[in-house]
Amino acid sequence: MNCYRLASLLILAGGAALAQVPAAAQANASQQAPAPPAAIKSFDLTAIDKSADPCTDFYQYACGNWMKNNPIPADQVTWVRSFSLLRERNRYLLWQELDAAANAPKSPLQKQYGDFYAACMNTDVIEQKGLKPLETALRQIDALKDARRLGSLTGELEAEGSSVTLFYFDVEQDEKDSSRQIAAIGQSGLSLPDRDYYIVDSKHFQEIRKQYLEHMTRMFTLAGDAPDQAAKEAASVLEIETALAQASTSRTDMRQPENRYHIYTVTDFEKLAPEFDFNVYFKAVKVGHFDTLNVATPNFFKAVNELISKQPVEAWRSYFRWHTLHNAAPNLPKAYFDEDFAFFGKTLTGQNEPTPRWRQCTLMTDRALGEAVGQDWVKRNFPPAAKESMDKLVAALEKSLGDDIQTLPWMSDATKKAAEEKLAMIRNKIGYPEKWRDYTALRVERDDLLGNLHRSEAFEDQWNLDHLGKPVDEKEWGMTPPTVNAYYNDNLNDINFPAGILQPPFFDFTIDPAVNFGGIGVVIGHEMTHGFDDQGSKYDGKGNLREWQTPEDRKAFSERTECVANEYSGFEAAPAHGDVPAQKLNGHLTLGENTADNGGLRIAYMALLDTLAAEGKSIQEKIDGYTEAQRYFLGFAQVWCQNQTEESARQRALTDPHSPGRWRVNGSVRNFDEFGKAFGCAKGQPMVPVSSCRVW
Ligand SMILES: [Zn+2]
Repeated sequence: MNCYRLASLLILAGGAALAQVPAAAQANASQQAPAPPAAIKSFDLTAIDKSADPCTDFYQYACGNWMKNNPIPADQVTWVRSFSLLRERNRYLLWQELDAAANAPKSPLQKQYGDFYAACMNTDVIEQKGLKPLETALRQIDALKDARRLGSLTGELEAEGSSVTLFYFDVEQDEKDSSRQIAAIGQSGLSLPDRDYYIVDSKHFQEIRKQYLEHMTRMFTLAGDAPDQAAKEAASVLEIETALAQASTSRTDMRQPENRYHIYTVTDFEKLAPEFDFNVYFKAVKVGHFDTLNVATPNFFKAVNELISKQPVEAWRSYFRWHTLHNAAPNLPKAYFDEDFAFFGKTLTGQNEPTPRWRQCTLMTDRALGEAVGQDWVKRNFPPAAKESMDKLVAALEKSLGDDIQTLPWMSDATKKAAEEKLAMIRNKIGYPEKWRDYTALRVERDDLLGNLHRSEAFEDQWNLDHLGKPVDEKEWGMTPPTVNAYYNDNLNDINFPAGILQPPFFDFTIDPAVNFGGIGVVIGHEMTHGFDDQGSKYDGKGNLREWQTPEDRKAFSERTECVANEYSGFEAAPAHGDVPAQKLNGHLTLGENTADNGGLRIAYMALLDTLAAEGKSIQEKIDGYTEAQRYFLGFAQVWCQNQTEESARQRALTDPHSPGRWRVNGSVRNFDEFGKAFGCAKGQPMVPVSSCRVW
């Protein structure tokens, strides 16, 4: 699945592209058993900085002491009180399963994922094999003598799972008829995190490009090329990637579905890039027959065509050779691993030390065999009672959003009715899939990590392509059970909460409702609101791209979302540093997430009021010196306490549709009057501005 379809995650996944994220240390220390993580407090009084004024900077008040006392661990770039700590816990529990399965499997399923994990941990074998696992791919690339044969080369590499991604090709629901699963193709092919890294002409990015060239040169040298040749190859790769970046649509523009929906006949599509033999490519990747497809980015393919005519075939060999080495680097011998980490880890994200091997291998196994590993994991970690409580919470939030829609001052009755209809059609998926995926056909070998990864990639691609023309299976999941995250899917109109996030500090049976509503309640409200943000609101209840607002309501809606976009564009993601200027947030890139945060905070609060009223309790009742209203806002804020490296903050400001913790908190409370009332703030104070923004 390409990255524009699951755009509504609660938080950026731990590594959007595994290959770009530094992997584990290839050292012996990695063989030590990890220590069990500490319990996570759902509500943490010691996190609060009482020297700060909640009405001036609520994030500092709720999180100040936590930030001071919890520096970023050397092997991390972002350290979030809720997400990071819970991820550590879930990963540790998963590691226990994997380690046991690797040593003494009790079922064929356990043998499969145990072997996958064991192969990943065996760094001696990785060292011995050197580049041998890439031999076939490198030989195929060397054999390219004519750039017009790129279609067959790309298709063959993809079918083998070596994922050299000049573009993406997959099967997706049709945006305008979500009951159909159609072929789709679009831009990709870059190694750096965003097109800006190639095309922005600032000192900062010039320096990064220089270091990127040096890094590529060293990687080619490691792979056996003479230094002169290596430098030449690196220059070719940068030239091709820069041209691809120039032809790429920005992330912000890609958020809008109409910008990535262009149905072409195969014949017309092939005319966009006659130099690339798509006919041969489609055969090679073993996709079924289709006559039309969605071309997300037509101009990108025109540019690919031009590049094929313009670039000599040696340059293309360099490009494919680079991507093959780069994708595999975290799982090649130590020399490659270290070189990859030095640039993609340290330079780009500010990570000081590599992630321990056990943690990286746990993540890789979860990605490859998530619904196999997850079966045993949920038995131990997700009791049926948790699901029942979640069902109740979701119902409470649905009611609140319905009430909220009814009271919106700017919306006509006709649009309110349509919004209600969409809300009623949202499906809830909680915990784990009703039926698990079958991995029997995936061959896993205990001494062949890269082979396993390639076979897994090919297996996933084939699984996706086999959806072509079939009915949609709404029970499929886009996340594995131990994942600490949640998402809304526009085309399925469903909200999804993996078992991994339904744990403290988000979800805690033992704590007062205010804290639970500030935690998981806001998460549920956030995902529901995605169905009605600037992107999600363009789809109807069936998941079809279709306008259901009246023109006047759409106009009023857009004015309100623009208010949010402008507000967040004023927030700073990273301060000025030497001659590198301050980095502001991109209010349009983050608009959907900010809208979802604002809506989630409001409707979860309403649901809390209803729940307390039903129990005959008051929002003014105090626990630990804070009223339930204050505990709600503090519980919400403490989800987002975080420390982050400056490098990572800058990278995410360009690539992440989510705002950083400080602005997720302060941005949301500024727009919600109940916050000011709860903390006795005066209108005009920074957290209670005279004019604020509201969509939902
Ligand atoms: Zn989201």
